[in-house]
Amino acid sequence: MIYDVAVIGGGPAGVTAAVYAKRAGLETVLFEEKYIGGQIVNTHNLENFTGFTTISGYEFGEKLSEQLKYHKISPVMEKVITLELDSEIKTIFTSKNEYKAKNVIIATGASPRKLGIKNEAELTGMGISYCATCDGAFFRNRKVMVAGGGNTALDDAVYLSNICETVYIVHRRDEFRGNKSTVEKLKAMKNVEFILNSEVKELVADEFLKSVKVFNKIENKIHEIEVSALFVAIGNIPNTELVKDKLKLDEAGYIVCNSNQETNINGVFGAGDVCKKTLRQVVTAASDGANAVNTILNFEI
Ligand code: NAP
Repeated sequence: MIYDVAVIGGGPAGVTAAVYAKRAGLETVLFEEKYIGGQIVNTHNLENFTGFTTISGYEFGEKLSEQLKYHKISPVMEKVITLELDSEIKTIFTSKNEYKAKNVIIATGASPRKLGIKNEAELTGMGISYCATCDGAFFRNRKVMVAGGGNTALDDAVYLSNICETVYIVHRRDEFRGNKSTVEKLKAMKNVEFILNSEVKELVADEFLKSVKVFNKIENKIHEIEVSALFVAIGNIPNTELVKDKLKLDEAGYIVCNSNQETNINGVFGAGDVCKKTLRQVVTAASDGANAVNTILNFEI
């Protein structure tokens, strides 16, 4: 069988694309390696997606699964290993099978950036975490640290301040990239401490993380701070492993698409956080997915 549309990735961009394609009567397949929902599943609360006053990321992920089911789309839970995109009919090789499609939408999202310091990988799950909402509860009434200065770090700090004894926020500058209102909210909290102009340099652990050595660039001095957990929230890197030698990427590795979500290869589209764009949010990811299918409907089939 040759599908009209193969969507790779089951986050908001991929699910929206699959729903739009299926509703338009296109033969549609969606591949997801881990779980439906993508990165938003790890978010405590989603408050800026149209139509929802507030909804947990986990619940939103479940709603995406329900929506797929409602539209009779059964996601193929297989890891896509390779893509052949050059011919008119594209081939998708997964860990188990081979699939053919006329159009492929890459909606593989992004993953948390790592600090890149010694023992980071070994201590992941033993005090190092990239998801405060997933792991915060393990550190109830303990001292924890958040690294980063964007909205994820700030939101994580707000979430953790409600369950942990003390939350240290380590940021490499003295100004935050994230929303000022959240910074003000955090400043008013008694159990939140800002450690600015500073970088995480070393993780001290036995089996579990015990303390973090932080370098203050102004004082030119290292401070060792006792914490049970370090939540790393220093941005994301695009999941472009599958297409890095095939599609045009920007200098940061994001897929370059035009306003119709077309890439440099005919019949191949990008959607969501994996694309070069100015605003990476659930609402813009969903919009990309819809847009990509609209382009297919207008020009391709
Ligand atoms: P981000 O906005 O890219 O911020 C990453 C932060 O980590 C920056 O403060 C950056 O410092 C710092 N950083 C980057 N590399 C670092 C390194 N190697 N060592 C130390 N610090 C490093 O990432 P994000 O916070 O994950 O947010 C991603 C997107 O999602 C953004 O568009 C954000 O607005 C959005 N988001 C929105 C909400 C919301 O609306 N409530 C919630 C979460 C995320 P510099 O500032 O010095 O570059």
